Formats: sequence, C-alpha cells, structure tokens
Amino acid sequence: MPEESRGPIDRLAIVGLGLIGSSIARAARRYGLARTIVAVDRDPAVRDRVQELGIADHVTGDPAEGASDTDLVILCVPVGAIGAAAAEMAPHLKPGAIVSDVGSVKGAVVAAIQPHLPDGVALVPGHPIAGTEFSGPDAGFATLFQGRWCILTPPEGTDPAAIDTVRALWAGMGANVETMSADHHDHVLAITSHLPHLIAYNIVGTAAELEEATQSEVIKFSASGFRDFTRIAASDPTMWRDIFLNNRDAVLEMLGRFNEDLSALAKAVRWGDGEALHAMFTRTRAIRRSIVALGQETAAPDFGRPRPPEE
Ligand code: NAP
Repeated sequence: MPEESRGPIDRLAIVGLGLIGSSIARAARRYGLARTIVAVDRDPAVRDRVQELGIADHVTGDPAEGASDTDLVILCVPVGAIGAAAAEMAPHLKPGAIVSDVGSVKGAVVAAIQPHLPDGVALVPGHPIAGTEFSGPDAGFATLFQGRWCILTPPEGTDPAAIDTVRALWAGMGANVETMSADHHDHVLAITSHLPHLIAYNIVGTAAELEEATQSEVIKFSASGFRDFTRIAASDPTMWRDIFLNNRDAVLEMLGRFNEDLSALAKAVRWGDGEALHAMFTRTRAIRRSIVALGQETAAPDFGRPRPPEE
C-alpha cells in the first residue's frame, strides 16, 4: 500500500514507455496518483502496445501534445536521450510545470536538461533504485518500486513544493524517498551499481572468449556463481552504454580502487595468505547480511529462486 498520498496529480506525462516508464504508468493508475496519464513514445510499436495494455489515458508520439497542460513530465528514456527529450518538450510546458526523470546518472542528466527549461518550470531529477534485466512496455509492473529507494537530486534553489509533489508520487508508488546532490548520487551509484555491472559484463565477456570446450562447461556448471553475473550482464546495452559514457569520472575512480584491492587479493592467493582471505570474506559476508536485514534482498537460499519440481 502507498505510504503517503497528497491527492492525485492532474496530468502526468511519461516519456518512454519501457520497463520504468510503463511501471510508473501502471503504479500511478493502480494507486490513483494521477487523474490523467499521458504516454509519450517515439516508437509506433510501443505506442500500439501501450494502447493494448490500457496503461495510459492518452498515447501520443508528439512531444508538444505530451507537454501541453501537463503538471509533471517524467523522462524515462536512456540517459543519452534525456537532454533531447527535454528540449522537445520544454517550449510547450506551462509555467508551474515540473520536469523529472529516472536516469541512472544524475550530474550529466541535470546538465543536459537544465538549459532547455523555461522560467517557471521546476526540475526535480529522480532515480528509482529498482529494475530488472528486461526492457519494454511488457516488462513493467505496478509493484516494481515497492520497498525500493528512489533518490531525488533537485538542484539548489528548486521550489520545495515541486520537490514535495515528486516525493509524494514516489512514496505513493511504495518507494522510500531520499534527497541528495547529483554528484553524491553519481559517486555512490558508481560503486553500488555501475562498477558491478562493468565487472559482470567483463567476466561474462571473458568466459565468452574462452575456447569452445571450456565455454560449454561454463554454461553447464554456471550455477556455481557465474549465473548471477550473467543476469546482470543481460541488462539493456543502450542503457548501460549511456551510463558509462555519462558517469565516467566516478566509475573510473571506483575502478581504480577496485583494481588496487584486486591486486591485494591476487597477492594473498599467490602467497597462500589464508588469514587475509578469510578476514576479507568475513567482512563481505557481513555486508550481505546487512543488505538482507534492510529488506533490500531475500535471505532465501539461491536468491529465492524457485526449485524445479522433484521428479
Ligand atoms: P527501456 O525498457 O529500454 O525503455 C526505454 C524507452 O525509451 C523505450 O520506450 C524506448 O523506445 C525509448 N527510447 C530509447 N531511445 C530513445 C531515444 N533516443 N529517444 C526517445 N526515446 C527513446 O529502458 P528502461 O529500463 O525503462 O530505462 C529507462 C531509463 O530508466 C534509463 O534512463 C535508465 O537509466 C533508467 N533506469 C533503469 C533501470 C533499470 O533497471 N532498467 C533502473 C533505474 C533507472 P524505443 O522502442 O524507441 O527504443
């Protein structure tokens, strides 16, 4: 159930009806958070599917129509496309409108949106820490944000009422909302999300390049750890390309630290330093337990995956 409700937004426009955009549409409808939901997407096939799914009141490919008389616009396209999407809509926004987004990088996105916004339009960027490795309007679901964090990064001086509106929308969709600077967000997400994806893409890429005989064994015995990397490495290539291109500094800084720590681990393995390895693995196990304790992961064996029925 939603945590908090301030009454519905009159007209909510969602640009990009993929996993995140279509989940917002579904959740806004289910929890009565918007009187009218407008879906804006450049792709006619996505628009047809959104019509069939019935998750928006109005569907259009025209950004001017999407922006017209709208109270809150949420840009849900890949990070590299957010600036252009904002530029298309900005001239048609009414004074008092709010622009938000869900991009996984915040500093570059704020810089890409801000120059296009007319006076009287507020910017309240957001990033829900929720998702799956699937894309498109069929991948979304209304409960995606339940119990997850959503980080808002409003630039200094943003109208507090605009921040409250966006905060209430996310709280209404079941998210826990936190506010921080865009820089801080990018730094934190570089280690919690961006670097793990880079590592997963790399390890799966390395396995893919092994000679054929070993490769088939990797797939056969993948349950022993590799499989969990493959799930992350199956994430949308466009989305992740844009994240690395737009959070370069923070990712490279974390990668530098990671490489140093990896060298230390390699040294412990090389010299048979079991004590160092055991101490490190004990610390990391405690981190896993605290994530489970915070309700951000299941403690069920094998990450809660259902077991196939016994023969
Ligand atoms: P998605 O399922 O691939 O949907 C993206 C949508 O944007 C699609 O409707 C796509 O339509 C449209 N689009 C793609 N390129 C575009 C362009 N150049 N101009 C206009 N529209 C374009 O992606 P998603 O997972 O929902 O991600 C959307 C945003 O959410 C990204 O900024 C991502 O960083 C952020 N995010 C994602 C996750 C996650 O786990 N997936 C979590 C948090 C935040 P087409 O059919 O035309 O491609």
